[in-house]
Formats: sequence, C-alpha cells, structure tokens
Amino acid sequence: MRLQSKLTQFSFELVAECPHTRARAGLLHTPHGTIPTPVFMPVGTQASVKGLNQRDLAEDLGVKILLANTYHLYLRPGHEAIERMGGLHRFMSWPNSILTDSGGFQVFSLSGLRQISEDGVLFHSHLNGDAHTFTPESTVDVQLALGSDILMALDECPEYPVTREYARESMLRTVRWAARGVDHWRRTAGQPVRHALFPIVQGSMFADLRCECTRALVDLDAPGYAIGGLSVGEPRPISLEMAEVTAEILPRERPRYAMGVGMPGELAEYVARGVDMMDCVLPSRNARNGYLFTSEGRVIIKHARYKEDQAPIDPACRCYTCSRYSRAYLRHLFLSGEILYAALATRHNLQRYLDIMGQIRHAIISGSFPEYLKTVRAASALAE
Ligand SMILES: [Zn+2]
Repeated sequence: MRLQSKLTQFSFELVAECPHTRARAGLLHTPHGTIPTPVFMPVGTQASVKGLNQRDLAEDLGVKILLANTYHLYLRPGHEAIERMGGLHRFMSWPNSILTDSGGFQVFSLSGLRQISEDGVLFHSHLNGDAHTFTPESTVDVQLALGSDILMALDECPEYPVTREYARESMLRTVRWAARGVDHWRRTAGQPVRHALFPIVQGSMFADLRCECTRALVDLDAPGYAIGGLSVGEPRPISLEMAEVTAEILPRERPRYAMGVGMPGELAEYVARGVDMMDCVLPSRNARNGYLFTSEGRVIIKHARYKEDQAPIDPACRCYTCSRYSRAYLRHLFLSGEILYAALATRHNLQRYLDIMGQIRHAIISGSFPEYLKTVRAASALAE
C-alpha cells in the first residue's frame, strides 16, 4: 500500500539530518520517479536543456528532475497544444520529473510592459507584443495542462533594491496570490496529489518581511515551499541570510526549494541552511560562454595556455566529455563556434554540479557534512 502510494503521488521523506547544521538528505517521490535530495535541477527553459538530448540527461547524467519555464511554453507552442500532445513529459519525451515555475519571474524580467493588479499581472509577450494576463488561478491551470509534477504559485519577484514599503506591499500581494493559487489547486488538481504546488516566499532582502511571508505561507499547508527573489543582484551573504531565516520557519517535513542559485561553492552553503532543491542556469549558460567548472577551480577554455593541452577539462571528472576530449580540442571547437562545443561543455558543467550534490548528500548521510562544508569553504577562500 505504501509503495503504491509513493509511486502515484507526491511525498517527501527525510533520510538523514546533520546534527550540526540544518542540512538534510531526503527522497522526493513524484509520479515520475523518486529524486534523492539535496538535488540540483538543470534548467530546460523551452522544454530543452540547451545542447543536450534527453538520453544524455536521463541516462548519462542521471538527471531525475528538470525545470521548464511556464512563461515560455505558454507563449510558444502554448500549453493547450502541449496538453493535446499528451502533456509536457510526452511532448519532450522526458521520462522523469518536471518542475515548472509559475511564469511570474519571466513576466517581471522579460516582458517590458506589465501592469500588476490585485487580480494578477497583465504583460506583453516578448515575442510579438500580444497582451496576456496571468492570475494565481490561470498559472495553476497552465501548469496542470503541462502536467508538471511540481508547480509554482504565482508571485511577484521585486527587483533589487526596493524600498521596504514596496517590498511589504508586494510580499503581502504574493501571499494573497498564493492563497488563491493553493485554493484553486486544491479544487482542480485532484487527490491523491500527483501535481504538487509550492508557494514562493518573497520579502526582498528584509529578514522580518521574509519571516512574515513564510509564516503566512506555512498556514496554507502546501506540499512544499520555494524561496524566491534571490540572485537578483544582491550581495551573496544577503542571499544566504534570506534563505536561512526562511528555512528556519518552514516545516521540517516539507521540501524547500531555493530558486535560481547558485555558484558551485554556494551549493553546500544553501544545503547547510536547510535547502533541499536548487536550480540555476549557470552550469549550462557558463558552459556555452567558455566558462567551465572543475574540481580544481574554473577553466576559461579560450585561454592560450590550453592550446596544446592534452588533459581533459577536469582530470577528476567521469563525464563523457572528460573521458574522451582534451582541453585543446574543446578550445578549438569553442573558438571555431562549433555546435559540438556547447554540447560537450554543458555535459561537463552539469556533471560537475550533479557530482557536488552527490558528494553533499553522501556527506550528510555518512555524518561528515560539517567537515565537507569546511573543505568547501577553504577552497572558496583560496579561489577568491
Ligand atoms: Zn567532465
């Protein structure tokens, strides 16, 4: 009975907790498989992780959950078209779990013309200027049409910095939107929970507003919670502080997702503050720009020093790219603008992120996370 329910519905199970930090290891069960946490989720904005196919992701890299962007898929090809194609999993031929954002972040970052009201947000498509409206209810409907395993509630992600007055007004609206979204989701998503909805904590960089928001959202008794509004230009120590004050209040037995973070050295820092899930475009975007993450620090592949370097990007990496290709060859592909470069570099950078998360999880389970964190901090200090 228990196994059956795990396979068909959403649930979160804690496996180990670090006694000295807030780090936890868990298992996130969704109808599309079980995800060991802490987890890093690669970003597939347009239902595609740029440069990689689904076999690379699922079989070679072992990715259990991907992120896709509601805003982009809503505009093109449209959630209704995707629903008619059997849902996003079938449309993109992805067997594992999918998390979608609510579209709010893109509305605020991409769409130049937008109007926020109590009802929702009116915006103009960055593709053709057409006017659209997202409401807390409609973004749930769009994500249910996509068939996401984890949905995000509509929120407003204020830019940085904003006044305290605006941060509070915006945060309170986000809370009201979350309540409407959760209410709509409870009535439409059905039971048992196959499509979990996470409200998003906002409050800009004001710790007390973050706490006020978190308490209000916890009252909604959602299946999980996201920490949004980070990585919007604030100094890194502030992002970590905001994640920390939020995670302290979030219920222990629910998964916590820090949106849009972070650099490799920061992953363990977020985990130490109680975060279970993260996503970031950095590994894939930086790969395409020639910036590679390795166990020995960064490699800027265009540098002349790699012109005849026969070593792999990272001698300690087991990825396909590192097992077959030299820095010299990758540098040549990069400088020649070859498509193959993006595919090989992205594969490596994602492997690096997944390896780090694997090491973190192992450290938590084996009781050595504080030592692991110390090593990461020492290496980060050296790199600066
Ligand atoms: Zn590699």
